[in-house]
Amino acid sequence: MLLASMVLDSISEGVIIVDAQNIVRMINPAALTMLGYNTPDAVMNVNVAGLLTFENSEGVKIEDSANEVFAALAKNQEFTTRSYVLVNVLQQKKAVAVTITLSKTGRGEKIISLRDIAKELEEEGEQAEFISTASHEMRTPVASIEGYLGLALNPQCATIDDRARKYLEEAHASSQHLGRLFKDLLDVTKLDDKKAKVHLVPTEVNSLVREIVSGQIPMMGQKNIKFTFGANDGIDGSTSGIRTIDQVSYALVDVDFMREIINNLVENAIKYTKEGGAIWVNVRGDGDRVLINVTDTGIGISPDDLKHIFQKFYRVDNSQTREIGGTGLGLYIVKMRAEAMGGKIWAESSFGEGSTFYLSLPRLTFEEYERRKQIIANTEMMSVNSAQTQAQTPGQQITTPMQPAIPPVQPTVIPAQPVQPIQPGIPGQM
Ligand code: ADP
Repeated sequence: MLLASMVLDSISEGVIIVDAQNIVRMINPAALTMLGYNTPDAVMNVNVAGLLTFENSEGVKIEDSANEVFAALAKNQEFTTRSYVLVNVLQQKKAVAVTITLSKTGRGEKIISLRDIAKELEEEGEQAEFISTASHEMRTPVASIEGYLGLALNPQCATIDDRARKYLEEAHASSQHLGRLFKDLLDVTKLDDKKAKVHLVPTEVNSLVREIVSGQIPMMGQKNIKFTFGANDGIDGSTSGIRTIDQVSYALVDVDFMREIINNLVENAIKYTKEGGAIWVNVRGDGDRVLINVTDTGIGISPDDLKHIFQKFYRVDNSQTREIGGTGLGLYIVKMRAEAMGGKIWAESSFGEGSTFYLSLPRLTFEEYERRKQIIANTEMMSVNSAQTQAQTPGQQITTPMQPAIPPVQPTVIPAQPVQPIQPGIPGQM
């Protein structure tokens, strides 16, 4: 016991032990300093929620209702985050990793640890800057190699024998892979640096997803994968036998982000599904959200791995995945992109049987969609008019761009939507 408190007194990590009601029962000196107090008396026997104030990395206070630490404490759940900045009683700020661990005593105590990660974040920033510069520099020569290999493989540009064609095709595929790798790395460093700006536009999601996925059908064909799209088909292409109709659903999305998300999920579904398997994609309105699923009959993911797959560089390591190439960045990028649009991404899987990845987005009513489209159309018309006026009156500068602010999405009850019938899914077609 004495040894344990010696350790707690000497470590730089802050440790707070709370009881089942989240009342502070023990606090070590490092935690006291982090919270801005000199003696334990000020904090013992008080509810820990009163001692912990957090901001996000942009300096915005995390409201109690959105505070994931408080939610985990209330639900007696283990939790960890590196996204919070602790604001102590002296208004000093410190980026911390917060971890909640449940005690094994059976009495419901929880151990909250606070680790200063300022240096860690700074090093990661430098690392990201290096990766970003290096991958940016390397993309140019890789693109040129890819371009020349493409020319060599084009019968109109070069004459090569069959054996050389085979080698060059391999080299071409590898240079394309390398190009994608650099793009992923660059995307990740941009994400970490928050440089990627989101550009939300009102969109009909069903047709957008359908259009994106159609680009992947040839790849599925190469693996003889049966593909179905839409509400009428489950993964086996024959859900209930009852004819259902695809819903048209609206949301504010960044079309480029959507492309990246859907392409990544479908590419993974193809990559991790064996020859002759099946993939099903569907978009539906579900209350106040639009829900997209990408379902496959692939190798599946174990519950242990499922918890981590959205982490940066995480790759499942088993006999099946080892032969399949990848960076472990795809799903991390997908998650960041989904969250940037106010959406959520998660997966369900049955190991050895298949997986479903879900993307949910805040849904717009048809009226709200129309209204927002109108605002955009008006804005565009105003900019054209003002550009014309400017051109007609030389020397006169317009300093404020005419941009009416688009109001935030209101949570709404969704009335019945206009629907669009689709053809029943035909394997390999849409
Ligand atoms: P990777 O480049 O390794 O594919 P991702 O971030 O896209 O990286 O995916 C992380 C890990 O999640 C993969 O290594 C893979 O093991 C697992 N995974 C992703 N999608 C699927 C899927 N549809 N089926 C089975 N496993 C998947």
